[in-house]
Amino acid sequence: MHALISGAGIAGPVLAYWLHRHGWQVTVVEKAAGIRAGDGGHAVDLFGPAVDVIERMGLLPRVTAARTANDTITLFRTGRDPISLATADLAGGISGRHVEIMRGTLAGMLHDATRDDVDYRFETVIEQLDGARAVLSDGSTVEADLVAGADGLHSRVRALTFGPEPDHRRFLGAYLAVYTLPDVLGTGPTVAAFTAPDLAATVYPTLTPGLSRALFLVRTPEDLPLDRRGPDQLTRLVGDGLGPRVSAILEHAAGAGDFYLDDISQIRMDSWSRGPVTLVGDAGYGPGPAVGGGTSLAAAGAYVLAAELRDVTAGEIPTALHRYEQALAGPVRHSRRIGPKVLDAIVPRSRLQVWATAQAMRLIPRLPGPARRRLTSFGGGPAAMLDGLVLR
Ligand SMILES: Cc1cc2nc3c(=O)[nH]c(=O)nc-3n(C[C@H](O)[C@H](O)[C@H](O)COP(=O)(O)OP(=O)(O)OC[C@H]3O[C@@H](n4cnc5c(N)ncnc54)[C@H](O)[C@@H]3O)c2cc1C
Repeated sequence: MHALISGAGIAGPVLAYWLHRHGWQVTVVEKAAGIRAGDGGHAVDLFGPAVDVIERMGLLPRVTAARTANDTITLFRTGRDPISLATADLAGGISGRHVEIMRGTLAGMLHDATRDDVDYRFETVIEQLDGARAVLSDGSTVEADLVAGADGLHSRVRALTFGPEPDHRRFLGAYLAVYTLPDVLGTGPTVAAFTAPDLAATVYPTLTPGLSRALFLVRTPEDLPLDRRGPDQLTRLVGDGLGPRVSAILEHAAGAGDFYLDDISQIRMDSWSRGPVTLVGDAGYGPGPAVGGGTSLAAAGAYVLAAELRDVTAGEIPTALHRYEQALAGPVRHSRRIGPKVLDAIVPRSRLQVWATAQAMRLIPRLPGPARRRLTSFGGGPAAMLDGLVLR
């Protein structure tokens, strides 16, 4: 059996690994020239079952060794004293089994674990799809038994099979921007946080000494056209709302080689499989970047998909894909409630909520364990969505 996977992010390599283990031949096409490995990208979370998937791949020691080491978060407020909190206190409510790691580091490890057994084709995309027969951008044709779109929020396999993106995307009313900059705040290993109504920013260290990464969340009903998503738009949307320190951070946006600005949207589909074609990870059920636990859902979803495809014949694939959707239906439904909740918690809507956030940061370390966990769990958020998932 032969699988063609589009996308070598998180879901693609996890699916490739497990399908290969189950005896499949696997081809992965990836639009980019290589894996965006290293400490590029952003910090992502692996919770519960997603940690189990990584452990079953034999990667947990490496992943744990490379986990981010931000031990303190400091909230800066104009004209007020900063408030610091141990990140362990903040993460205590998220999950007992949780690893935070830079996305690029994880992607590099997943590629390493599959590169010898999987046919990776970089700078290659699927141009046309007819069932599981794909014409690729290099002119070749692949006759596969299964096509899996693991090509992220703006999935091409989804567009080719299920129609244009707007039909499946729900905008959550906010934008996300990320870029790398020198450690201009001099905060070293501390995560620096800033909030104001409808705005939040954090600046955190990368694995490269002297380099930080800035992450902005901006709530706005504006619909920014795709060709107008540059540093100038971020600067306009934030204005001087987060104070002079953040203005200094914004000055580095235009010069950043890795500037990224995208809408925070969810992918909502009742079904994400058709015949021998299916979607996995953000492509099929993205819960919203930075707010929904998408990495965990992508890793766990890929594992479940591969498990359902174990020992099937070509004729049994559509039924296996139906079982995959059923197994993930609960977590996916749950994930859709998380993004808006997390956004509301981390991007205050009013001055009162800005004040309340600061008070909560003061309070959290003094609370007894169970109360602290309840306050920091985002209402049973990203970690809880995978609680009901049983890995075979
Ligand atoms: C700033 C930011 C912060 C985040 N923070 C968190 C977090 O804290 N916790 C968390 O769980 N998640 C977080 N996420 C979300 C997380 O990164 C994604 O949910 C996760 O990476 C999904 O994995 P994926 O494999 O489905 O998609 P992706 O990782 O997006 O991979 C898709 C791959 O497909 C490739 N591709 C795209 N188009 C094509 C094409 N036409 N043909 C071939 N290849 C293509 C891309 O180059 C990429 O390699 C965050 C996301 C962002 C942007």
